[in-house]
Amino acid sequence: MNNFTYIRATSVKDALQRAKTDQKAMYIAGGTNLVDRLKVFLDEPSQLIDISRLEMGRIERTSSGGLRIGALVSNTAVADHPDVRRNYPMLSRAILAGASQQIRNMATMGGNLLQRTRCPYYYDTAFPCNKRQPGTGCPAATGINRMHAILGASEQCFAVHPSDMCVALAALDAVVDVEGPKGKRQIPLTDFHRLPGDAPQRDTNLEPGELITAVTLGPMPFAKSGVYLKLRDRTSYAFALISVAAALELTGEQIKNARLAMGGIAHKPWRTTEAEKFLIGKPANTTTFQQAAEIALAGAKPLTHNAFKVDMAKRAIRRALTVSAKGGGVV
Ligand code: SF4
Repeated sequence: MNNFTYIRATSVKDALQRAKTDQKAMYIAGGTNLVDRLKVFLDEPSQLIDISRLEMGRIERTSSGGLRIGALVSNTAVADHPDVRRNYPMLSRAILAGASQQIRNMATMGGNLLQRTRCPYYYDTAFPCNKRQPGTGCPAATGINRMHAILGASEQCFAVHPSDMCVALAALDAVVDVEGPKGKRQIPLTDFHRLPGDAPQRDTNLEPGELITAVTLGPMPFAKSGVYLKLRDRTSYAFALISVAAALELTGEQIKNARLAMGGIAHKPWRTTEAEKFLIGKPANTTTFQQAAEIALAGAKPLTHNAFKVDMAKRAIRRALTVSAKGGGVV
């Protein structure tokens, strides 16, 4: 860990001003991923701006019937909130599927969006890594790549986004509220994270100095039937091999509306809009769900060790849609 100064911001304005005058400053809240990175010199800030005491720790109902979740609300508080459990159960279950209770107590809404890949080569500085140091290479391309991406990767990077929560947020049409040197703006969650392309060092479309202030969910009545299915090597405290967030709205046996997103397969939470479009108007049965899964995985390009993810993802989609069609619940 390098030497840095530590200050506690007194307001959002104060935090933004400090970041504006120091390009190497970083914000810290729960620190559950950032501190790990500091320890191995992946991040070497000149100062840490502690935002953890700012007024961004509330969950409020919006006038449209949705929820505005402050950036500093802990993952535990989001997962346990009665409105989240009732109206957006896939979000609650996704959060509870991630990390340990202790980490969920510390981790924040905003920080969860900003956690970085757990690609082992990224954390092991004995290896080159285009994400850590652009232009040095990607050892995952020919190395151990069992956990890596099957969709949306580039030759520069095959890392996957680690968050469970963000997969549910992608399916729920969440919007990220940010504030920065140029003012306030809103970014749809599906546009917040980036594919690696030729700039794998950038995970998000945040501009320098911008701060996440909240995540907003609109009303989505059929999200009550939403489910989150996570498949992993062990049943707790492990990142997803494959995850699926799904919700269906039915009229009789026919699908009226659909949301489908996947995790563990790409550099960002992977919303599958083509499969959603296909589902609308079709009968809610196994054949339809299998066809949707084929569409969702049509562009998959597995690596040496992760071809199993293609079939696993299709099965997970079929299972998640089947449970959602029956009204939701534990998958
Ligand atoms: Fe680095 Fe990405 Fe390659 Fe992992 S997959 S070694 S993060 S460039």
